[in-house]
Amino acid sequence: MTSAQKTEVKHKMIAELNRLTQEIVTLEEVTRPVSAEDMDEITRMDSIVHKSVNEAALAAAKTRLAGLEYAIKRIDEPKFGCCIDCGEKIGFARLLAMPETVRCIDCAS
Ligand SMILES: [Zn+2]
Repeated sequence: MTSAQKTEVKHKMIAELNRLTQEIVTLEEVTRPVSAEDMDEITRMDSIVHKSVNEAALAAAKTRLAGLEYAIKRIDEPKFGCCIDCGEKIGFARLLAMPETVRCIDCAS
């Protein structure tokens, strides 16, 4: 990876980090417990369904955020951009699409 490519990946990581942080704030807001007296039965059921979907999205966003934070710390290490399983270089396009990835496309599948 060239240093220009590395900078591009780093910018992508920071943009993703900011986006995810914002997304987590929003999801935490919508998954907050709501008092049952405030709604009728149908609204309550609807809210329970949406809540579980949002909770899953929140968990996924948090996992991704942790991965990105880890990747940002490692970006200047010589091993950054290499697959943790086979040691081969991870493709630049893959890193740009998924900057938190630690495996090459072969090992990830
Ligand atoms: Zn690999």
